[in-house]
Amino acid sequence: MAVTGTLKTFKGGHYFPRFEGTPRGRRIETAPLPQRVICLTRQGFGHEARPLVEVGQTVKSGEIIARSDGLISTPVHATVSGRVETIESCPHPRGGALTQRIIIAADGRDNWQLLKRPKGNFEKWGPEKLGYLLYEAGVTAGGKGGFPSTEHSSLASPDQIGYLLINAVETEPYLEGDAQLLSQEFEKLLTGIKILRGALGNVEVHMGLGYNRPRAVEELQIRMEYYDWFHIHPLLPKYPQGEDEVLIKSLLDRQLPAGHTAPEIGVVAADVQQCVAAYEAVLEGRPFIERVISIGGSAIERPANLRVRLGTPAGELLSARGLRSPARIILGGPLRGVSLSDVDTPVLRDTRALVALAEPRRRLFAGMTPGFGYDSYTKILPPLGLRAKRATTGLNGPERPCIHCGYCLDVCPQNLLPITLAERAEQGLLRQAEKLDIFACIDCGLCSYVCPSKLPLASQIAKGKAALREGR
Ligand code: SF4
Ligand code: SF4
Repeated sequence: MAVTGTLKTFKGGHYFPRFEGTPRGRRIETAPLPQRVICLTRQGFGHEARPLVEVGQTVKSGEIIARSDGLISTPVHATVSGRVETIESCPHPRGGALTQRIIIAADGRDNWQLLKRPKGNFEKWGPEKLGYLLYEAGVTAGGKGGFPSTEHSSLASPDQIGYLLINAVETEPYLEGDAQLLSQEFEKLLTGIKILRGALGNVEVHMGLGYNRPRAVEELQIRMEYYDWFHIHPLLPKYPQGEDEVLIKSLLDRQLPAGHTAPEIGVVAADVQQCVAAYEAVLEGRPFIERVISIGGSAIERPANLRVRLGTPAGELLSARGLRSPARIILGGPLRGVSLSDVDTPVLRDTRALVALAEPRRRLFAGMTPGFGYDSYTKILPPLGLRAKRATTGLNGPERPCIHCGYCLDVCPQNLLPITLAERAEQGLLRQAEKLDIFACIDCGLCSYVCPSKLPLASQIAKGKAALREGR
């Protein structure tokens, strides 16, 4: 095992201040079982799955209720035991494309259907058996829209993969789940890493974690001392360090070409939750039907890190933690998440947080208010002091013309020209935007966050990319 001596980081990015309503240091609690769950037949990345159940049928927790034979897909499981109440079409919370939802009324008994797993030591099972179990359990990444773990459902087979990267540095505001799992589920994490490595053909493993976690680094050094395939890289906890493109550059000093996925260059990136889910699938036979999410934001009275069943409606979880209104509810973190208009939207496999931000009544310091509140990035009012800052949506008030401050250029981790890209996309000059490398944008949202003129640069760039893809 090796620990990198020098701190690694990247150009651009941003250190966020501590925001009020962050569940920092709070131990993981288990949310009560929901009375009903909404299981979407497309869980993040991948093809639409076909329902295998009918209305009125009884199901067990962990039972497969929808499946796709497509190349990139994982099965969908019932996340409580009970009776199928409804199967109907609905818009997917990410992008709005039509999907199906299977609503299950819970019977309160939580009877499980565990995976059929072979007996013996998993370290002798090989990629095929491990990959099959991870596929059947629906173990997918928390980022990249829930990219599946292994060759049964991803773009690469194990013989094309050389590296497994473990992202243990969460840098988006309010996201604390992986940090808590790192300290509370350490044993599961270590075994989960070995399982994922085995499923990928015993590749090299590189783990990136914040340098501000010296105890975790020390513990890993002791526990993984004899594994020469394991490398630890202390990183500066700057947003968006955990994104595949940035992580690959920091850990392997390699560039992920725009428009390509990590497996195409021989890399699979996983997160802490995914490693824990791999352990639970392979050693306990439990499909990935619950995950840890952070609930926080300026409109939440009691922030928490909660273990929840997938499919639980967002509104139910937020109300239980004291949701104040009016608030903007975000599925995911405030920079990469999606705003919800329907609080019945369920927690998905790749949901890391539910954030509720208060809507400000008026804007303070209107001439220089940046991002989503007067506490966000500015060189005029730097986020000094130890007091937690209050973040609001900052969405009230009109946008202003660009003042050419250059903040968006400074923070872009991909070294792009966000304002130029956004303008070209808005004007329909898509070929020009493509020449300016619009597909290298990783949708981190930082350019919108720092813009003092409140220009929605990231969403304009995302629309430009979508239009280009459609044109193709
Ligand atoms: S242009 Fe893309 S990558 Fe650059 S800051 Fe904006 S959203 Fe992030
Ligand atoms: S788009 Fe916003 S952040 Fe970028 S230069 Fe203009 S005012 Fe500054």
